[in-house]
Amino acid sequence: MIDVRGLFKSADTGTHRVEILRGIDLHIPRGQFVAILGPSGSGKSTLLGLMAGLDTPTSGAITLDGVEISGLEEDALARVRGQKLGFVFQSYQLIPTLTAEENVLLPLELNGKDAGGLTRARALLGEVGLGDRCDHYPVQLSGGEQQRVALARAFIGKPPILMADEPTGNLDSNTGKQVLELLLTLNRREGATLVLVTHDRELAAFADRRLTLHDGVAVSDETSERAHGG
Ligand code: ADP
Ligand code: MG
Repeated sequence: MIDVRGLFKSADTGTHRVEILRGIDLHIPRGQFVAILGPSGSGKSTLLGLMAGLDTPTSGAITLDGVEISGLEEDALARVRGQKLGFVFQSYQLIPTLTAEENVLLPLELNGKDAGGLTRARALLGEVGLGDRCDHYPVQLSGGEQQRVALARAFIGKPPILMADEPTGNLDSNTGKQVLELLLTLNRREGATLVLVTHDRELAAFADRRLTLHDGVAVSDETSERAHGG
């Protein structure tokens, strides 16, 4: 469950103040698959980052499964994130000095539960079509390959909440389908809440709900009948 109340975010550029988010209210029940849509610059990445506790709002509150993250100390926040959240950055943010499989393993190591992790990391890399790239460093991988490593890293802890910023943005239609399968499995079989920023209409069509931002406000919020059971 994600609860966003009266969320504002502004930033100072030095010469003037930019209002990035101007009053977002949002309740996402557990297990919902939400697609966040909107033109470039509308505030999608900012909203996602705030919901993940990666940035602090100017005002407003964000609650993840009953825990208000806006007021947490860094350690407590890191713990909540480690337990609840998988996050895929628009720019992937892989660790350059770690191989693909080491990057994927990292969340388990940080949570101290990496027993059997290497097998699972390799299996996940196989599922995203990178079974033969486990030992490669990020610099040796294409953008689309790095994106899939970042997805495998976000999946490995089977997080109850997965947030991803344009997760299929750099994938061809084949690997995009593999990633979609993984996302849907996590959502439907594991019951994970999915919040995806996307321009991919095919991906958005699978969502339970489509939230559209424009200039930092939600201009539409439509929920579709869930076509699948559960
Ligand atoms: P989107 O992901 O929808 O493309 P963003 O959330 O990245 O949009 O950014 C929304 C707007 O806020 C953009 O106009 C961007 O330039 C601006 N912005 C984002 N972060 C900052 C910042 N730290 N300082 C100033 N402006 C910012
Ligand atoms: Mg963005």
